[in-house]
Amino acid sequence: MKKRIFTSFILICLLLTMPACAAGTDQPNNAERLSVQNTGFTDVPADAWYAQAVEYCRENGLMAGTSDTTFAPEGTLTRAMLAAILYRMSGTPAVSAPPAFSDAETGAWYSDAVAWAAETGVISGYNSGTFGVNDPTTREQAVTILWRYAGSPDPGTALRFSDGDSVSSWAQAAIQWASAGDILEGMTANNHFDPQTNIKRGEVASMLYHYLSSNTSGQPEPAVGGKTLVAYFSATNTTRPLAEYAADILSADLYEIVPEDPYTDADLAYYTNGRADREQNDASARPAISGIVENMADYDVIFLGYPIWHGQAPRIISTFLESYDLTGKTIIPFCTSHSSGIGSSDTSLHSLASGANWLAGRRFAGGTTRSSMEDWISGLDLPEPETAVDTVTSATSKAAFNFETKSVTLNSGYEMPINGLGTYSLHGETCVSSVKSALSSGVRLIDTASAYGNEEEVGQAVREAMEELGLQREDIFVITKIYPGSEMANPEQSIQACLDRLDLGYVDMMLLHHPDRNDVKAYQAMEKFVEEGKIRSLGLSNWYVKELEEFLPQVSITPALVQNEIHPYYQENEVIPYIQDLGIVVQGWYPLGGRGHTGELLGDEVISSIAKAHGVSSAQVILRWNLQKGVVVIPGSSNPDHIKENTELYDFALTDEEMAQINALDRNEKHD
Ligand code: NAP
Repeated sequence: MKKRIFTSFILICLLLTMPACAAGTDQPNNAERLSVQNTGFTDVPADAWYAQAVEYCRENGLMAGTSDTTFAPEGTLTRAMLAAILYRMSGTPAVSAPPAFSDAETGAWYSDAVAWAAETGVISGYNSGTFGVNDPTTREQAVTILWRYAGSPDPGTALRFSDGDSVSSWAQAAIQWASAGDILEGMTANNHFDPQTNIKRGEVASMLYHYLSSNTSGQPEPAVGGKTLVAYFSATNTTRPLAEYAADILSADLYEIVPEDPYTDADLAYYTNGRADREQNDASARPAISGIVENMADYDVIFLGYPIWHGQAPRIISTFLESYDLTGKTIIPFCTSHSSGIGSSDTSLHSLASGANWLAGRRFAGGTTRSSMEDWISGLDLPEPETAVDTVTSATSKAAFNFETKSVTLNSGYEMPINGLGTYSLHGETCVSSVKSALSSGVRLIDTASAYGNEEEVGQAVREAMEELGLQREDIFVITKIYPGSEMANPEQSIQACLDRLDLGYVDMMLLHHPDRNDVKAYQAMEKFVEEGKIRSLGLSNWYVKELEEFLPQVSITPALVQNEIHPYYQENEVIPYIQDLGIVVQGWYPLGGRGHTGELLGDEVISSIAKAHGVSSAQVILRWNLQKGVVVIPGSSNPDHIKENTELYDFALTDEEMAQINALDRNEKHD
């Protein structure tokens, strides 16, 4: 256990709200505490008692916000999330067996963490044989888990809370230890500890901050396997020092991507239609590079550094990626930017080296110190070279969109296209021809529902298209839903009726259409159909944070998808990251605002001007905006031209500024 204390500072990466990322090893001393700045989160007032802790956790990559502007300090933390945090803190050691709990899936984002937590005794499961994967963590549980992680140290002084009697016996030593070590600073009011209350995100940040402040052991150690290259492009010398730090820390080779035609100040001036502006607006631009990495085959791991230009990597990075066969190599992007985050600059590059194992990237401000770089590198979960290809998304709980295959791998293990066709209000021959038109245009995801009354037509269209287009059943992903009321009250019968109407052998995904008093029962029935192979993946529709918090602990199979209303006027910016951080894919319905509202949305001035700048339609901008937020789109249409247009989403990318402009259109205006 002692060793764990030392290694705890090596790798700290919370999976609460973010992909796996940096280690936070800067332990704040008193002087640093005073210097911590405003968090920038609108829901974390500068004078909040946990503000410093949130900022510390954010700065060190320990906890991200639930959106660009919010942290949700009142939000809760599941037991699986806490396991994942501590597992990473311990350096993600190999685990010998899959999690042995009935509610812990093998291959889920938390599997290794849960198995490790149980193996080491840091978090044991419940007597019922469950881990409580999706259960919120109470305050006494969280403190006890941290205490066990710390090696169950001597508790020190006696409990000093007025409600000490209500602390569970198994938690008393931990709470004594934490209170004696000031780890609970700020978490108690009126000398009350409230042991059974769920711990909040702000409190978790505070606990980690104080735990790390009080601990003086350990320095980060890079965890790199294989020969490493740090390749970077730096037009203004902002990225260069970071690349040099990285190469030094990693004992890696350093390679500068030098343009054949160097960039002048005039080239770099934004919004002048200068060279950088033009290149960034042209997805096909490939500025030539002077020189080449002769021994690229020798490298297993490549750190790729670049500045952010108009929200993306400079096009010379595309040139670099396309110049080599990077199959099987692990690539970790990092970028420098004064204001933007790494945004989609990271994921946009994946298709240029699709055979590589991309890890989540990190943005640094110019002037970042060597120790920050060291912290980040130390926290990375770099695979051994021989396992690199298999672990594309191992460093993140979020399911990553692959813009080359236009698909995402669900937590059920199945691949699902990220753009599809919605069939609400399509009936009869219109429905059949629309679905067939979509399949002819390359669409492979079709959304229907029992309530739409068109499953038979959808099934017919899919069967005919398979025949006519030479497609296999596995090529097409069909989603259907069962409805509240009598359908959910008699779920086995309703599910079988959907299967019969579709008549496609199996259904790729079935959703509960809305919450209902019988929703758990209905979902459990769907779970049985999964076991029988008649349904492949499960999901929910119209479920929000509160509903998910209540629902998830009651079911065995974590939903693979949540389908909710999402469009620029109703963005759900609080809900989307919450769902995604559970490893669940988000799909948006009414992407174009829904019938009766599309005119206003498609005619929106901001969206229209962005569309004009890219030479695409407003619909395409909205759909692309969704994809860049990690939201799957299922626009409805019976117009073959629209259907085709709605598939052409991959030859342009919205800049961070454009994404921000659309984000600013949110009106919380539900159209349903
Ligand atoms: P939508 O996709 O937001 O809008 C559909 C409307 O947009 C249609 O009038 C369509 O007209 C038009 N349109 C489509 N592509 C266009 C383009 N490129 N340019 C201009 N107009 C275009 O609304 P929706 O179909 O109602 O919602 C999408 C899907 O979400 C549904 O079909 C359904 O599968 C699902 N949904 C789920 C729920 C739920 O509770 N889970 C609720 C509602 C909807 P044309 O036919 O002329 O192209």
